[in-house]
Amino acid sequence: MFSKILIANRGDIALRILRACRELKIKTVAVHSTADSDAMHVRLADESVCIGPAHSSKSYLNIPSIITAAQLVGADAIHPGVGFLSENSDFAEIVQAHNMIFIGPKADHIKVMGDKIKAKLKANELGLPLVPGSKGIIRDLKNAKNESEKIGFPLLIKASAGGGGKGMKVVNKKEDLEKALFAAKNEARAAFGNDDVYIEKYLSNPRHIEVQILGDKYGNVIHLGERECSIQRNHQKLIEEAPSPILNKEEQLYIGELACEAAKKMKYENLGTIEFLYENKKFFFIEMNTRLQVEHPITEAITGIDIVREQISISAGNKISYEQNKIKFLGHAIECRINAENPKTFLPTPGAISQFHPPGGLGVRVDSGLYSGYEIPPYYDSLIAKLIVHGDNRSHCLLKLNQAIQEMVIEPIPSTLALHKDILNSKDMINANYDIKWLENVFLKNKNE
Ligand code: ADP
Repeated sequence: MFSKILIANRGDIALRILRACRELKIKTVAVHSTADSDAMHVRLADESVCIGPAHSSKSYLNIPSIITAAQLVGADAIHPGVGFLSENSDFAEIVQAHNMIFIGPKADHIKVMGDKIKAKLKANELGLPLVPGSKGIIRDLKNAKNESEKIGFPLLIKASAGGGGKGMKVVNKKEDLEKALFAAKNEARAAFGNDDVYIEKYLSNPRHIEVQILGDKYGNVIHLGERECSIQRNHQKLIEEAPSPILNKEEQLYIGELACEAAKKMKYENLGTIEFLYENKKFFFIEMNTRLQVEHPITEAITGIDIVREQISISAGNKISYEQNKIKFLGHAIECRINAENPKTFLPTPGAISQFHPPGGLGVRVDSGLYSGYEIPPYYDSLIAKLIVHGDNRSHCLLKLNQAIQEMVIEPIPSTLALHKDILNSKDMINANYDIKWLENVFLKNKNE
């Protein structure tokens, strides 16, 4: 096992990794920007190193600074967490080249899955069903027009380097194609430094269903069931559930096995999530995330498996400690992402927290770096807390979640906490009658009218 891990991240996820390390008796090193000197992950780690100024390009994305910090403290592995450098294959290679272990999959797998066009080609090879779309990169407007005729409207222009819903444009009719292509390319260039785009059929009422998989270097692959993440805004997840409330047993088995087979074929190692859209009883691959996911706690809740601990163990060269047929799925779990965002506009609302009170009780978990007196910096992702509740079944889970939300206090900044209260009590949420467009097109529309 490792003796010291540097955690190249911040916020709730840095704390999450730190806790797993503690249980494994591994020393932890936090890194932080000058804006995060007072952050909880810095306070709780065994050691900490300041890696640069507030802006993430100069700190949490600053590879030389992170590598130097790791060497300085004598870390034998680096955990990249979520976001930042977690899907940067160059970083994974650089870490290895400096004789440390990158806690994640092989650089080649990160590379192929990080490029969505290559990922779709690979997924096709692996036997995963795809959303109908262009075979590769869209070269120019003429090419876009030809492809759009084959695919039909509405369609979606997506960035090959995409992530976090950026660089995505829906096109409803032919006349809008040119403008949308230009806008998608510009957005992709600004966000990822790469303006390659492709086109997909825009599914009208899909649900987002993903499978958590785990692989080790001995060829073992297991899945930990599916999660449904259809409640989204701006193509970004807000509420996740495990299991999906709409799949039947056969569908659950089918999608779990399909994901495992694909991962086995590619000799995938470490944690991964294969994401699908589900419409008219059919699954369509959209992407694979080669890292830990924000929503991993709901899978932990229903399986009782510490995913991060298992991930670290696999990275240290151990076999997966679980067998597929021994994994039990118990009850139902829901995660609410609490973001420092205006609950109507979703614009960031950073600032000082005068009061923070997390709820508690059996099956109630709060992953957060917040504390009373903390000041949320304006430079990073707006996720400030994750509330995860586990119940005997879905209705029990909703009941508990309602109670937990009532107890939770985050003041005085506006946050999505207020929105969660309303969503959980809506009829559609209670009946699981939603798809990826429900929050924006139905719920918020009705609420704001
Ligand atoms: P990102 O990597 O930017 O998160 P994804 O490909 O994972 O992009 O898609 C994010 C979300 O965008 C999906 O969960 C879904 O809501 C929506 N989406 C993606 N592709 C399609 C599609 N072809 N049709 C309809 N919605 C889509």
